[in-house]
Amino acid sequence: MAPSFHEFDLIQWIREQCPNSKANLIGIGDDTAILQPPLNSEMLFATDMLMEGTHFTFPPATPERAGRKALAVNLSDIAAMAGQPHSALISLALPKSKGPEFAKAVMQGIINLAKEFQIQLIGGDTNSWDGPLVINVAIIGTAPQSKSVKRPGAMPGDWIFVTGELGGSLPDHHLSFTPRIHEASTLNQTVSLHSMIDISDGLASDLNHILRESNVGAILDATTIPISNRISADEPKQTRLQHALSDGEDFELLFTVSPEDGKQLLNQNPLSIKLTHIGEVTSRQTAFLQHPDGSQTSLEDSGWKHEL
Ligand SMILES: [Mg+2]
Repeated sequence: MAPSFHEFDLIQWIREQCPNSKANLIGIGDDTAILQPPLNSEMLFATDMLMEGTHFTFPPATPERAGRKALAVNLSDIAAMAGQPHSALISLALPKSKGPEFAKAVMQGIINLAKEFQIQLIGGDTNSWDGPLVINVAIIGTAPQSKSVKRPGAMPGDWIFVTGELGGSLPDHHLSFTPRIHEASTLNQTVSLHSMIDISDGLASDLNHILRESNVGAILDATTIPISNRISADEPKQTRLQHALSDGEDFELLFTVSPEDGKQLLNQNPLSIKLTHIGEVTSRQTAFLQHPDGSQTSLEDSGWKHEL
């Protein structure tokens, strides 16, 4: 179908905002973009779709913040592999009831974050419909050959670390978080990362992803879990811990390293954000939470439910 006037207008506007900036690719303007893969690199691909009413609501989201989040969650997946983001394709389903200014605002949120992380927008699609806003981002990243960090690779005895603080991502953090691209890259250059994931579903769920892929288990020390001060201090201790374990959308890094590398990270944190040793990988293929009284409880998958 021929593009509507607004679609044509929007694409022209996007081209003006996003001049071609990468030497090895040709972006918007032809039927497809063309990318010459960088030498000695592996390429990373991911896509994530965000829907109004499920992944954000207006308010507290604004069109800009919804756009920003759509790119940020994709950047977080590139961070989880310790890759560098390269370029992205953006597809929008725009509510017919909203005008071009709304579409531009969504794109502005995406463009601002794209500039911050030096990635080029190279294509996509726009449509309007009677439904709510839907934003799909397909992201392309690179890593030096064989250097991206995968989920399998956790070994019994590994120390488990997490960046930042967990829990209470609603109502604001999930719209404003910083994808841990730079932190993942620094960690990957400092130590040997055995396995890594970004926390989207919640610490308990995402740790279980690593453990299942690696055929191992884990024991976490409940007293060490970094609970965010986004969660009210008035809440009972157990409730605060539960939030940190299961709220999700923290978009922090969860990774495992050898005890030697773990000690190095504790001695000298190479990041400008908090880095916490929260437990150890075990061979028994189940995850447990160790409490201060010495008791252990099973660390069930208790992931984030989309409650907005
Ligand atoms: Mg992920």
